[in-house]
Amino acid sequence: MKIHEFQAKTLLARFGVAVPDGRECTSVEQAVAAYRALGAPVAVVKAQIHAGGRGKGGGVKVCKSEDEVRLAAQKILGMQLVTHQTGPAGQKVQRIWVEKGSSIAKEYYVGIAIDRESQLPVMMASSEGGMEIEEVAAHHPEKILKAAFAPKQGLAQAEAERLARGIGIPPALLSKAAQFMTALARAFVELDCSIAEINPLVTTQDGAVLALDAKINFDDNASFRHEDLAGLRDLAEEEPLEIEASKFGLNYIKLDGTIGCMVNGAGLAMSTMDVIKLYVGEPANFLDVGGGATKEQVTAAFKILLADPKTQAVLVNIFGGIMKCDVIAAGVVAAAREVHLDRPLVVRLEGTNVELGRKVLAESGLPIIGATDLDDAAKKAVAAVKQKTSGAARR
Ligand code: ADP
Ligand code: MG
Repeated sequence: MKIHEFQAKTLLARFGVAVPDGRECTSVEQAVAAYRALGAPVAVVKAQIHAGGRGKGGGVKVCKSEDEVRLAAQKILGMQLVTHQTGPAGQKVQRIWVEKGSSIAKEYYVGIAIDRESQLPVMMASSEGGMEIEEVAAHHPEKILKAAFAPKQGLAQAEAERLARGIGIPPALLSKAAQFMTALARAFVELDCSIAEINPLVTTQDGAVLALDAKINFDDNASFRHEDLAGLRDLAEEEPLEIEASKFGLNYIKLDGTIGCMVNGAGLAMSTMDVIKLYVGEPANFLDVGGGATKEQVTAAFKILLADPKTQAVLVNIFGGIMKCDVIAAGVVAAAREVHLDRPLVVRLEGTNVELGRKVLAESGLPIIGATDLDDAAKKAVAAVKQKTSGAARR
């Protein structure tokens, strides 16, 4: 789950991470009132969307007067903000955050993610703050310092100081910066984050160490431990089909292609997408229905795949392990009937009771295209889309 910058800052402040004072606003009047309440000569009006790169896209404005705040709020609220993370359509700005402006001495980067190799959270820090960290990682990997830490012990103050010194924090601010990092590490562990990123972390002219931006994603597998955080979810920021999928416990991510995929198991779903691409097709989605999918889940999954107007063919790739192939086939047939399937459907089944499963599909009377293996299935799905598009072109 993703949350907004202002929500992340509010949460982090509880752990002792220093953040600028600010107010959440959904109208121009609120923004002006917020500016007065903050009582600082300089304020920053910031679009709140679930994407970074807002500054470059015109979603962050430094304001030196009430009039400037009013103008910035008028401009940003309701704008379709396009950044490198939103895609070309952008994201509509529904709320802004008005915060005290900081006199920045220098911008740095700190972030925590899980390192799969060491199986530990890793604090990363860099002198190259304010820019896309992916760029720094690609061109100057030596400028990113790292410290892994055990979740129970947290990040040691000495380790944090080593990082702070390494990225060039002035000596007088080393212990403040280290405290900032250890607090961030505590928040990461206690909130079950999958990512916690401060870009930029700044030192100011008056000797403060502050988070000017904050990005937090939570690990959904731990959401049962954090019922109090559920209210932070902003459905307006999420893809409607993904919201629908989450109601049925389906792992669904919408993509831009034309072949809808229904697969059990995340690894199999990934390889299905790879093989579709190998045969020059484009997956319309990632969808893992899970190991023990029920008929209801299969039906819901079908409806979601077909609700995407871009989907021109559906590829079902299921491995019957715990679930038997004949049960899955019966579910697929029932779902296809219920949703009045109007697009080509390619099904590849493998595993327990596969022969029985194929029989169920063959006897269903539905125009299902059977496939023997994953290559065969991908080829047939790509061909079905080609046929549809060339047919459409002829018409
Ligand atoms: P994004 O990463 O989405 O572009 P940021 O919150 O990082 O948004 O803001 C972009 C830039 O705007 C920052 O790198 C910083 O230079 C400036 N900025 C953001 N907040 C403040 C603030 N409170 N005071 C001064 N400058 C700010
Ligand atoms: Mg930023």
